[in-house]
Amino acid sequence: MNRPGCLFILSGPSGSGKTTLKQAVLAHFPDIRYSVSATTRAPRPGEKNGRDYYFITEAEFRAGIDAGEWIEWARVHGHYYGTSAAFIERVLARGRDVLLDIDVQGTRQILKRFPQSIPIFIMPPSLEVLRNRLEERGSETDAALERRLTDARAEIGQLQLYRHVVVNDRLEEAVSDLTALIEAYRSRCRSVPQEEDPIHTSGNRA
Ligand code: 5GP
Repeated sequence: MNRPGCLFILSGPSGSGKTTLKQAVLAHFPDIRYSVSATTRAPRPGEKNGRDYYFITEAEFRAGIDAGEWIEWARVHGHYYGTSAAFIERVLARGRDVLLDIDVQGTRQILKRFPQSIPIFIMPPSLEVLRNRLEERGSETDAALERRLTDARAEIGQLQLYRHVVVNDRLEEAVSDLTALIEAYRSRCRSVPQEEDPIHTSGNRA
């Protein structure tokens, strides 16, 4: 029987460690396909076109909106981000599992279209820790850092959208929580209706 694959969504504020966790998940499950988004923001040092994002122009992005190319799209921090409809449909139809790293607006759209998808929120242990991490990273101006913290509060305010929350306090524990969660879903997400799944929080708070 040709079963659809599982669709995992990872969201979380800037500084939550989401990117590191995503990389750990993909290394742990080499057969999970990662959906590379398109964006109009400029590449950061070290980012590669086609691996981290497809870096495109605003005109190309808008043409994609008109052509129905994005299964979801949003404007985040002043830039456009979108997920390829063709990629998601192809991967799921082949019964492969797929992982999306998208924001709360995108999650809302995907859930409408694929109510069985599994949205997971990566949570920093506290806003204090988030602030410290962003300060240590040193990549933001004061104003940008405050904006990211404000955005983080807004994102955390929409937590009810998510079926699971993984608290990223100690990285190793968060990786193991997240991989265990995904492992469990991979064996059952195709057969268990969403409403029967208990909402649970896995965390590693000290
Ligand atoms: P960054 O620019 O830091 O890589 O990403 C900024 C935010 O955009 C992150 O929250 C990330 O999850 C989100 N994002 C990345 N790709 C997509 C996408 O295709 N759609 C949506 N809605 N959000 C995305």
